[in-house]
Amino acid sequence: MQVVATGVELRELLMEYGGVAGRRVLVPTMGALHHGHLELVKRAREAAGPAGSVVVSIFVNPIQFDRSDDLEAYPRPMASDLEQCRAAGVDVVFAPDAGAMYFSDRSVTVSESLLSRGLCGAARPGHFDGVCTVVLKLFLLSGCHAAVFGEKDFQQLAVIRRMVRDLDVPVEILACPTVRESDGLAMSSRNARLTDKQRADAPRIHRALTDAMKLGGVADILAAARAGIEASPLARIDYLELVDAETLQPVTTLTRPAVLAAAVFYGDVRLIDHVAVK
Ligand code: AMP
Repeated sequence: MQVVATGVELRELLMEYGGVAGRRVLVPTMGALHHGHLELVKRAREAAGPAGSVVVSIFVNPIQFDRSDDLEAYPRPMASDLEQCRAAGVDVVFAPDAGAMYFSDRSVTVSESLLSRGLCGAARPGHFDGVCTVVLKLFLLSGCHAAVFGEKDFQQLAVIRRMVRDLDVPVEILACPTVRESDGLAMSSRNARLTDKQRADAPRIHRALTDAMKLGGVADILAAARAGIEASPLARIDYLELVDAETLQPVTTLTRPAVLAAAVFYGDVRLIDHVAVK
C-alpha cells in the first residue's frame, strides 16, 4: 500500500496504475475508520476487480464544517486508519492536509441548490458546497472510474449523484447500505466522542425512527419519532423530517417512497440517521 499526501504525488503514483487493466475505485472518507468504511472498501474492491485499484482518501475537509469546534474535535487516528486500510487491501491512501488541497485564495465552489436545501443543508449552512467541492476535486485528482459512498449519509449521496448527473462527471457512483452496531446505532466516526451514558442512550434514535415508521399518517409518524427521541434528557433534536425519497422535500402525505430522517445532538456530538418509509 502506498500513502501520498499531495495531488501531484497522487497523480504520479496513479500513472503507474494507469496502464493496468481494470478500474480505479475511490472511497472518500474523513478517516477515523470503522466497520462502515471498511464495507465501502470491500465494495470498491469488488467493483475494481483483481486488476483494478482501490484508492481511499482520508481528509477532514475544513470547508464542509460549519462549526470550528466540530472540526477541531473530529478524531484523526491516522496510524490506525492506515493499518486498517493495509489490512483491507487498499492500494493507495491519499491523505493530504488542508494546505495541499486548497489555495488560500481559492474562489471556485461547486454548489448544488435543490437537494441540499433542507435537512443537513439547512442545519449546516455551506456544508454541501464543501462536500461537492472536495468530492469533485478528489474525483479529478484520483482520475477514478467509480466511487463508493454510504447510504448513511443519504442526502450527501443524493447531492453527489445530482452533481455527477448535472456536470457530466464520468464517475460511476456506488452505494453501500448503512452499517450498524449490534444495538442499532449507525456506525459513525463521531460515536467515539460520546460519553458512556450517551453511547448507551444513542440507539434510541434508530429505534424511534423504526417504530414510528410503522404508523400510518405523516403527523403520527413525526410525533411518535419525536416522542421516542425526546424521551431522553440526553438527546436534543436538530431536525426530524419526513421527506420525499427522490426530491428530499418535506411531504404532507405518504403517496410515494419517503425517508424519515433525524439529526440529534448528544452534548456537542451530532448524529444522523434515517429509515425508509415505503
Ligand atoms: P465520513 O468519513 O463520515 O465522511 O464517511 C465516509 C463515507 O463512509 C461516506 O460515504 C459515508 O456515507 C460512509 N459511511 C460512514 N458511516 C457509515 C456507515 N455506518 N455505514 C455505511 N457507510 C458509512
